[in-house]
Amino acid sequence: MGESVAKAKILIVDDEPVNIHVLSEALQGAHELRFATSGPQAMKLLDSYRPDLILLDVVMPDCDGYQTLEMIQSSPTAADIPVIFVTAMSEIDDEEKGFALGAVDYITKPISAPIVRARVRIHLQLKQQRDLLERSALIDGLTNIANRRSFDQALSRRWRAAQRQGTGIMLMLMDIDHFKQYNDHYGHGAGDDCLRQVAHALDQAFTRGEDLVARYGGEEFALILAADAARDQAARLLSVITELQIEHLHSSAAKVVTASVGAREFPRPGEMEIADALKSVDELLYQAKQAGRNRCALQLEGALGIEMIC
Ligand code: GH3
Ligand code: MG
Ligand code: MG
Repeated sequence: MGESVAKAKILIVDDEPVNIHVLSEALQGAHELRFATSGPQAMKLLDSYRPDLILLDVVMPDCDGYQTLEMIQSSPTAADIPVIFVTAMSEIDDEEKGFALGAVDYITKPISAPIVRARVRIHLQLKQQRDLLERSALIDGLTNIANRRSFDQALSRRWRAAQRQGTGIMLMLMDIDHFKQYNDHYGHGAGDDCLRQVAHALDQAFTRGEDLVARYGGEEFALILAADAARDQAARLLSVITELQIEHLHSSAAKVVTASVGAREFPRPGEMEIADALKSVDELLYQAKQAGRNRCALQLEGALGIEMIC
């Protein structure tokens, strides 16, 4: 059992203080425990608190465990927290209903401390493994930054949020110049190294609020940024790459590794489909390549033409 399992956070929801007391005695020391004495109180707590596991009493006045579980599962932030029902033997008929609703397990009262500990440990381990899998599905294996899938998810979320809030988004697609040549002359291992350095530098350079830097494909990276200071952000992206000073003597653009960038502001994302937006940014990237590489083709809202930033 890992350290983090030992420090796991558990929320106990039960209307009877004596039950809370018995459960916390059983789990004491090994976990960080929080308590709520009703469903609504638990929901309020879950606004700001993210436990790894919830122990939920089935029989409570007003709002019972089933109703509470439904509320948990319809909450966007708490829906994936595993819930174990705690119920008296006499209520066992309802066990099936609990599983159907999505509970991961049952603990029956009167409580046996070793069994509570064992079940809690198993479900915490399962949760940890699932979190790890989910995380690795969203991280690029070579560079350790967000992958394409993560980018797609983030973009559709941000696109909708921007639409709701009336805020803008800036998208940038970046492609390393003459990277085939780089591989050919310095070797594929050095190429991998270069991608790692570029990814790391970008990740360090764009850290404002919800900035996202992702590996979009081979030697292409994509950025989702807030729509302000577009020229500065484009210029910064170019300089982050050149300042790495990675020698590339077989590039027509410079003696170091450079990149070409397509960038565009979307002040009202609701007016456009995501796929069309990405396509337009990709076309800008193409123009930056055509114009000689190591530059950014930037399309500003309201501007007549494209601006080249070098
Ligand atoms: P351009 O300036 O027009 O973008 O030219 P380019 O050579 O960068 O573009 P091209 O699409 O011809 O080649 C991309 C190269 O990127 C070819 C491919 O082997 C290399 N590449 C893609 N993914 C990886 C990777 O994970 N590791 C390494 N080392 N190379 C990669
Ligand atoms: Mg490419
Ligand atoms: Mg390239």
